[in-house]
Amino acid sequence: MTAANRIVGATVWTGEHTLHDAEIVWSVETGTIEYVGPSRGPAGDGDIDGTGRLVLPGFVNGHTHAGMGVLRGYSDDVHLHTWLGHVRAIELRMTADDILAGLRLAMAEMLRSGTVGFVDMFEWTTPLLGAVVDAGLRVNAAPTVFAYDAVAFPSAATATGAQVLDATPGLAAEFAGEQRITVTYGLHAPYTCPPEMLSDVAARRADNGIGIQIHLSETRREVAESLEQWGVSPIRHVADLGLLPGRLHVAHAVHPEPGDLGLLAGPGVTVSHNPVSNLKLGAGIAPVPEYLAGDVALGLGTDSVASNNTLDMYEELKTAILLPRGVANDPQVITGRSVLKMATAGSAKALDQGLSGVLAIGEQADLQVLDVSGTTAAPFTDAVSFACYAARGSDVTDVVIAGRVVVSGGRCLTIDEDAVRAEVTERATRLRGELADGDPRPVRS
Ligand SMILES: [Zn+2]
Repeated sequence: MTAANRIVGATVWTGEHTLHDAEIVWSVETGTIEYVGPSRGPAGDGDIDGTGRLVLPGFVNGHTHAGMGVLRGYSDDVHLHTWLGHVRAIELRMTADDILAGLRLAMAEMLRSGTVGFVDMFEWTTPLLGAVVDAGLRVNAAPTVFAYDAVAFPSAATATGAQVLDATPGLAAEFAGEQRITVTYGLHAPYTCPPEMLSDVAARRADNGIGIQIHLSETRREVAESLEQWGVSPIRHVADLGLLPGRLHVAHAVHPEPGDLGLLAGPGVTVSHNPVSNLKLGAGIAPVPEYLAGDVALGLGTDSVASNNTLDMYEELKTAILLPRGVANDPQVITGRSVLKMATAGSAKALDQGLSGVLAIGEQADLQVLDVSGTTAAPFTDAVSFACYAARGSDVTDVVIAGRVVVSGGRCLTIDEDAVRAEVTERATRLRGELADGDPRPVRS
């Protein structure tokens, strides 16, 4: 393991301003930054030479299902509700080892493209959280339920939704000593979880302080069905049941109804904007400029590789900047800088680990280093411009999380990428084969 704790001679965007020929020093013991400022001398042995390099705060992916790594490229061109059926057919057959392999692949991809943490809804167990600890990433992990009696992942785990909810505080307590691991309740959506379950989990949160993640208002169909069934939008529906305000992380919020924006801007609430997934599934375009103007705490996320199909936050960043401009026919409706902050400080808030997304003395040393010496960065004059419009995940050379170097020279130090790639390919082939063979298990749980 590289024990570097200093970068010298780099351009640094701290999250607030740009420094040239700058130096960053952090403590490997505490994981916090001890110096950010002008370079005080040349790079020494063990330092990261920042010549031709740009340092940014690490990205936090605001919404993922990392354990779905085996599903990349599966069910590409259908509506969400058809897609959910296709994905469910595979998920029901996934073993604990299929999920672990997919998670490790996703983590390798995230690390290699500058992501230091992710906010995730899926199957979460002690071994899966242990894999995150080993990889060195941060996670806010929500073991996700669909209903009290539904078994979400029968081949991987036989716990019903009721059992998963009861076990979630124990899992949180088990990892309470890990500053990079947060465990929250995971409610799939108001169209899968019944009202009594939503209000029950709100009461559990009030009792034990454990936060909640949920998908809300992803498609017009979801909103129309909620209006028909409950007489209110999905966002108002969960607010009426006690989930809003409070520590709630919302994925999507693509189609707010009148009054919903004020609920999303309530205390404790964070929202992940996932534009590529929303476009790929034809779900729609979230009103991001209105959310920013209305003080909604917005982060940026990719969703899973089955609905994206990459975890590269640079692609998400550029899409999120360009999309509202095309809708409004106005290039000034949103700035690149504001979306870059969504991908760093914004999503970091949803992690709920005190990560600021800013590189400053006393803050966590969570950063990414990009190679800006190549053709696609020249002339390199503006760090924010490059990050927002020209950079790709493959430009990332080094990643530091809580003071630990986890990517060095473009190589992931904590995951054997060749091995996990081969393993996921083999497992994905087997799962697709089971479906083709007409496995008799039902398509939906
Ligand atoms: Zn999702």
